[in-house]
Amino acid sequence: MADDLLKFVSIDQKTPPKREADTRRLDFDEIYAEFDPGAAKEQASRCSQCGVPFCHIHCPLGNNIPDWLKLTAEGRLQDAYEMASATNNMPEICGRICPQDRLCEGNCVIEKDFNSVTIGSVEKYIADTAWQQGWIKPIEPAVERLETIGIIGAGPAGLAAAEQLRTAGFQVHIYDRYDRAGGLLVYGIPGFKLEKEVVGRRTGRLEQSGITFHMDFEVGREENLADLREKHDALLIATGVYRPRSLKVPGVGLGNIREALDYLVASNRKGFGDKVPEFDSGTLDARGKNIVVIGGGDTAMDCVRTAVRQGARSVKCLYRRDRENMPGSAQEVKNAEEEGVEFVWLAGPEAFVGDKDVSGVRAYRMRLGAGDSTGRQAPEPVPDSAFQLDCDLAIMALGFEPEDLPALFGAPELRVSRWGTVTVDHQSLMTNLDGVFAAGDIVRGASLVVWAIRDGRDAASSMIKFLNQQARNAA
Ligand code: FAD
Ligand code: SF4
Ligand code: SF4
Repeated sequence: MADDLLKFVSIDQKTPPKREADTRRLDFDEIYAEFDPGAAKEQASRCSQCGVPFCHIHCPLGNNIPDWLKLTAEGRLQDAYEMASATNNMPEICGRICPQDRLCEGNCVIEKDFNSVTIGSVEKYIADTAWQQGWIKPIEPAVERLETIGIIGAGPAGLAAAEQLRTAGFQVHIYDRYDRAGGLLVYGIPGFKLEKEVVGRRTGRLEQSGITFHMDFEVGREENLADLREKHDALLIATGVYRPRSLKVPGVGLGNIREALDYLVASNRKGFGDKVPEFDSGTLDARGKNIVVIGGGDTAMDCVRTAVRQGARSVKCLYRRDRENMPGSAQEVKNAEEEGVEFVWLAGPEAFVGDKDVSGVRAYRMRLGAGDSTGRQAPEPVPDSAFQLDCDLAIMALGFEPEDLPALFGAPELRVSRWGTVTVDHQSLMTNLDGVFAAGDIVRGASLVVWAIRDGRDAASSMIKFLNQQARNAA
């Protein structure tokens, strides 16, 4: 082992090459290149194979990180992929978009004074290589089961569950109101973080594996929950959270004040070459405009960086706390700044101004006051500190809440929390309706892709147990 590993002492941390800001501002391609094989091997060899690997403990999927790093360092990439994919349905996607600084890499305890192992980039490299080499094949279940399962939502939670259930031999049907599978992976997250072909090859494989996709199928419009319960032996609700949080300030009803997701969906659709009337007419296109994005999370970061690529005249991000207290990834803020985004820290909107359409955002300075029960300092306005920013398009990125699912699904009996998330039994992830399970953002609230995958996998395990019990009862 010593020959291939523990090289953090002699080899520095290196991430894959990042494209220069001047060129990456011009397109929606991913900003990081792939490791070359030598660099991947070298970086994997920095791992010290900790007895208690904190990287693994802090990965929501419990990935066997030291094991696949070791296999990579030894050049055994196919074995590394087998191991990585045993716990993760989309390693190349997590390798690209997990906030590693808060998860695996942030907890890599290599040694004081040494930078962490670049776990995410190695994971991406292993899985991209597996795709290139043709090691990833459609699923061929060992047995075919007669039971059918309906999954509502083709985001990461639904897709991960579908893969697990199909592998166990069940007949899986996915229903989604969008025309393409992937959920926020295709229509929320922009291509410069996650190119769409990367998602497409995963969903394509599931289709080739015998999973049936019913696209443009909105549950609650085409059919309601009861109809699907009739059709299937078990159901999974994995619909994500889509209701934007609103802001109540004067002028919020003016034209050209838009929700983040409308803006990002339009941009992603253009990337696919779709006709998008609101973009084609210029309404949702940032070209030549002064853009103000309100919010400090990952969605806000995706909006500002999209606006840069669309050729905005200026892009400003207004956030009420400071850099240290923003929820978005620090790396994404750095990427945005490199690309020309201006952050206006400690500032909150007081009003939108304009006649018919917005022409400016009046804001005031904020300061951080006393901490709340969680210790987080609450921002409060500084008196007489108002200032104004020019604005032709304001984008609201204030987070998302669940829609009213019981009403939407025609299922008032479906139990939800006071925040609207679906209530599940924490062991089984079953809702209060027999045989109806739930997973992903619709259960935990807006979260991360890696947690959605974890939930999808957990729900699938419970559904398999449930269906096996049903089969035993019927025998
Ligand atoms: P979703 O991905 O939202 O998928 C739900 C699916 O259900 C959708 O396809 C939707 O069309 C479908 N659906 C909803 N209602 C119905 C209905 N009634 N009938 C049929 N279908 C329905 N996470 C990260 O880890 N890293 C990131 O960099 C990151 N960036 C993000 C950027 C943005 C702009 C946003 C909004 C989120 C980001 N996230 C990121 C969070 C991440 O995308 C979500 O946590 C994750 O996608 C949740 O997965 P899900 O399967 O629960 O739901
Ligand atoms: Fe890290 Fe995410 Fe991969 Fe886990 S899934 S090892 S948290 S990048
Ligand atoms: Fe390797 Fe870091 Fe994980 Fe330790 S914490 S096993 S050094 S990746």
